[in-house]
Amino acid sequence: MNAPARTTRVRFAPSPTGFLHVGGARTALFSWLFARHTGGTFVLRIEDTDFERSSSDMVTGILEGLHWLGMDWDEGPFYQSKRLELYAHTAARLIENGHAYHCFCSREELETRRISAAETGTVPRYDGRCRGISNAEATRRIAQGERAVVRFMVPREGVTGFQDAVFGSMEFFNTELEDFVLLRSDGIPTYHLSVVADDLDMRMTHVIRGADHLSNTPKQVLLYQALGASLPVFAHLPLILGPDKTRLSKRHGATSVMAYKDMGIVPEAFRNFLALLGWSPGEAAKQPDGPDREIFSTDELIRMFSLDGIAHSNAVFNNEKLAWYNTEYIRAYDPSLLLPLIEEEWRAANYQASRSQEEILAAIRLLQPRARSLKDFASTFLAYFGDQFAMDEAAVKKFLSDTAVRQMLSELGQRYATLENFTEASTEELLRTFAAEKGIKAGALINGARVALTGQAVAPSLFAVMLCLSQPTVVRRLEAAASLTIE
Ligand code: GLU
Repeated sequence: MNAPARTTRVRFAPSPTGFLHVGGARTALFSWLFARHTGGTFVLRIEDTDFERSSSDMVTGILEGLHWLGMDWDEGPFYQSKRLELYAHTAARLIENGHAYHCFCSREELETRRISAAETGTVPRYDGRCRGISNAEATRRIAQGERAVVRFMVPREGVTGFQDAVFGSMEFFNTELEDFVLLRSDGIPTYHLSVVADDLDMRMTHVIRGADHLSNTPKQVLLYQALGASLPVFAHLPLILGPDKTRLSKRHGATSVMAYKDMGIVPEAFRNFLALLGWSPGEAAKQPDGPDREIFSTDELIRMFSLDGIAHSNAVFNNEKLAWYNTEYIRAYDPSLLLPLIEEEWRAANYQASRSQEEILAAIRLLQPRARSLKDFASTFLAYFGDQFAMDEAAVKKFLSDTAVRQMLSELGQRYATLENFTEASTEELLRTFAAEKGIKAGALINGARVALTGQAVAPSLFAVMLCLSQPTVVRRLEAAASLTIE
């Protein structure tokens, strides 16, 4: 009988020492897409054994970021801080089977040796001097109160290799690896021990993470071997660089995912953008005539995702591209789905819309093609949602400083009050007739009316705006033009 195919188990394992950053979110997204594509399990594990630098606020922030991006997990969150026994037990097993040993060298001794190594120009590495201490001897010394760490016994020769799903065959000389620490004297595991113990215990089939972990992997491979376990598939993701081709950092602007939410980016746009940061759907994106497709729904991403499509070269974070995705997504949203996101912006700005739901949705539909960010709906677009909005000073100066124009707009407002059939065509006809009658260019009235009605010099077609605002509002705002005080 054939053994049943193993279903994939993939994890995202952030350290809560900072907010969810772009690189972490991309790792989470690729792992999630892979789990969903393969019908596998996505596990969330919080690697919080650095007690000094980890905080529950950061955990909350990370979960919030994952929620915002629409990623759900099937198991967890598991907290490494609650799993210390497993790590101690794994270290004990490694000591028992001869792959690890207690080391009694003090921090000061190690430091002195490091300095003298640096002085003689040799690479400072632990020299393995405690390897010779027998288990019995170590147990006795610890019982007497001596402090010891547990170190892994790295083979003194040979190479350690693994097959990376992205970078191919990787090999490291064991002589380049020192006898690294597994367990500190206070019983807290190092990253290498906890990550391998957990990935084994949680039966991970794939480890997808940033390429900054590539150099850690041989140590972890040695641990798997020493524990008699087979390796998961490793897939290391290329780094994300800023536009100047250096590693993405605060210097390039926001690195925390939630900062992009705060900038008015819609989550689907950010997710689509992230998905293509170091991954490409290849042939599936090709179009017979035209450039490759770049907009993909979540279902499409899940369907197309594969480790083969991950790039070997570093990805560059391009803000203009992200802005492009955002406009495309805002445009394509159904207004009723965009509304809750806009309402969140309103709440943050302490703004209360004063129009009916139907009017609000119609205004959103009218404005969508012009929006660059959700922020626009809580700033330059506010005139469409109620009377609480600010006039753009430059626009007022440019188009409303002429008293005669303001008077005429006021009079125009009165004419609109008596217009029976208030449509785009009738409002336009009335304005043009009125302009001819007054001997003024229709353009001057249109520009002035646009500012009086929306507070802005740019807006959708004026007569569509009038219809969207409704007759009473148009009348009221135009009539008020006469009493505007211009500085
Ligand atoms: N906790 C590690 C980090 O945040 C991830 C380790 C891993 O994925 O193996 O970088």
